[in-house]
Amino acid sequence: MSAPHDIVLLPGDGIGPEVTAAARLVVDAAGVDVRWLPGQAGLEAAREAGNPLPEATVDAIRRHGLSMKGPTATPFGGSYRIEFEAAGDSSAPRSYPSVTVALRKELGLFVNVRPVRNYPGIPSRYRDVDLVIFRENSEDLYLGIERMRDADTAEATKIITRGATERVARFAADYMRRTQRKRVSIIHKSNILKLTDGLFLEAARAVLEQTPEIEVGQRVVDALCLDLVMQPHSYDCLLLPNLYGDIVSDLAAGLVGGLGVAPGANIGTDCAMFEAVHGTAPDIAGKDVANPTAMILSAVMMLRYLGEGDAAERIESALSTVLADQSSVTPDLGGTAGTRKMADAVVENLIRSR
Ligand code: NAD
Repeated sequence: MSAPHDIVLLPGDGIGPEVTAAARLVVDAAGVDVRWLPGQAGLEAAREAGNPLPEATVDAIRRHGLSMKGPTATPFGGSYRIEFEAAGDSSAPRSYPSVTVALRKELGLFVNVRPVRNYPGIPSRYRDVDLVIFRENSEDLYLGIERMRDADTAEATKIITRGATERVARFAADYMRRTQRKRVSIIHKSNILKLTDGLFLEAARAVLEQTPEIEVGQRVVDALCLDLVMQPHSYDCLLLPNLYGDIVSDLAAGLVGGLGVAPGANIGTDCAMFEAVHGTAPDIAGKDVANPTAMILSAVMMLRYLGEGDAAERIESALSTVLADQSSVTPDLGGTAGTRKMADAVVENLIRSR
């Protein structure tokens, strides 16, 4: 008998505990042998453990190589930072603008993969959208290097390196080869940010053009936004620097039914962390109305990463049935079911299809 998969489970804040519980329920019901290792991150962790990102959490993910994470809260504005100091590490403590950014950096999760596609029954402006977003995850304005130059002047530093750009482009090319994707557009604003975005465009293009079966294009980010809302079918894969990747992911989620249905994966050389695109949704937290679809689809991505393709297919198919039937979906999808009821309906379909 093979060993169980060890997965560090971070429920996170707001709706995080509700949607991660739903995803866990579904993965277990699919018969995948998982040992869930509870971990803490976020404001709940700060309250309970005195630290929004306990070192034990980062260590556990490094050791086991895998995490399923709920969203974690980051206060807007002000001077909130995560100070991370690893034991035995002689370098100065590192400081990050949010728990998620800290985890991505500490674990070397250099790419955020965000598939965007329609599912049956989900009300949306378009049908048959099928995009994959590759967001560079380690640099750009997300390094959070900001300062007040004087009392009335704030400054942020944008960093783009050839190494990080080539790394994410190589990942995108490899992913596209494996999944038989044919076209990628490099997204930038190099007409204005000539050095930073200019380097991103040039370095990414040089790598992607080494794969003859991939057609490589480019688009400035503002024109891309217009195209996506007018004609999303004209794109296949998008490769973006960190900040544009974040913004365009939410826009793209809006094309296929909203944040409740947009999954994601953060992948590095030795580790991976799976989380939905959405945040903690404080407006609906604790009410059992959060849509678990994005988290369940993130778990589906995680199972594929683990080589559990059969369980991933079965979960995706059971979820599609529930979405199409619409009698057990959450209010954002036009239904009246709660998070738990929707997860139970997916489980029932999984069991029925065995
Ligand atoms: P949000 O994604 O939490 O919410 C935006 C809107 O979408 C809200 O109206 C919310 O109710 C709705 N929504 C989100 N997820 C939903 C779901 N599963 N089902 C139904 N409706 C859903 O974005 P925000 O309000 O900008 O951010 C709230 C907090 O989340 C902030 O502290 C932010 O920093 C944090 N955040 C964390 C992550 C992460 O941990 N990866 C990502 C984004 C935002």
